[in-house]
Amino acid sequence: MVGECLKRAISMKITSRKRLYELIYRELREKFRDYPSHYVHTAITVALGMYKSYRRLSRKRSYVKPPSIELLKVILLDDTHLFWFNWGSLKIATHKGHLVIPLRLHEHAEKFKGWQVKGSRIVVLGDEYYLHVTFRKVVEEREYEGVLGIDVNEKSIDLAIIKPDKVRFVKIDISEAKNIRDRYFKKRQSIQRKTRGKVKARLLAKYSGREKRRVNTILHKASKVVAEIAAEEKVKPVMENLKNIRERIKYRRRMNRRLHSMPFRKVQFSISYKSIERGYKPEYIDAKNTSRMCPICGELNKPNGHIYKCRKCGFQADRHFVAAWNIATKLQMCRPLPLAAKATEALKAEVERIVIKC
Ligand SMILES: [Zn+2]
Repeated sequence: MVGECLKRAISMKITSRKRLYELIYRELREKFRDYPSHYVHTAITVALGMYKSYRRLSRKRSYVKPPSIELLKVILLDDTHLFWFNWGSLKIATHKGHLVIPLRLHEHAEKFKGWQVKGSRIVVLGDEYYLHVTFRKVVEEREYEGVLGIDVNEKSIDLAIIKPDKVRFVKIDISEAKNIRDRYFKKRQSIQRKTRGKVKARLLAKYSGREKRRVNTILHKASKVVAEIAAEEKVKPVMENLKNIRERIKYRRRMNRRLHSMPFRKVQFSISYKSIERGYKPEYIDAKNTSRMCPICGELNKPNGHIYKCRKCGFQADRHFVAAWNIATKLQMCRPLPLAAKATEALKAEVERIVIKC
């Protein structure tokens, strides 16, 4: 079914769901008379998705292989009329009645028992079949006793935990992720220079996949640490709104690559859902001046290297901690907290450092 929809979409250059539907629905219903009608709907959705992503790609690159049914590696199971997920098995409505397929659970699956099933898809990798299931859970927000300013950087995620009676600074070292990215960047450059055509495409794909997986592992571990600290300290996470990040950092070409290869948004997202799961929903604040303002006297200074130094009051600290502190206090509720003295002490004492490795 998907194959037929795909052929039609390609030959007639159709991207509108309605048009493809009008063209092909009756025909497919006739041809696959024994199948539930939901199959046709899903086939149209999948074929359109494949065709559209092909069009998007071919605008960016010179040669992209047109989609064909052999390339179909993912089967959408979004419809609750056709599929029923059960722990240990999947029931599917087919032209020959209901079919029950047993499945082996992933080791992390236990965690989602009792959650609501939202949708799923079958992914084919070689001769193995995987079932991806999306779960949903309603979490109750917990009471918080303070705020957690989070400053995400290339080499570290810096935290300022600020409560009425306590201040704590933590640096989570993710420089390993940056090292991996830099190494692979060099490798990619040399592949670009030394190889051509299919070999080049294969090598590039291989390395970019491996790089992403390794970097993701580190970022996930780091986000988990952040969420655990939020839960343990009972504080509300505060992050900067990244909408204006490109304007904020004046970038050169090299800076541009560094910015785009660093998945700030992804890290924020991952911190966000991991904290929400634990009952602490993040807030986002406008990032203006968070890296320039002196948290003690309010003077604007330009940080020089890793050290922030205020020319007015002489306050001095790691620039990322200053940013995290400012991010935290930008949230209206904690403005009046009298914590400057405590925070300065906390910064002078040995600051906690957590190093995340692959
Ligand atoms: Zn100052």
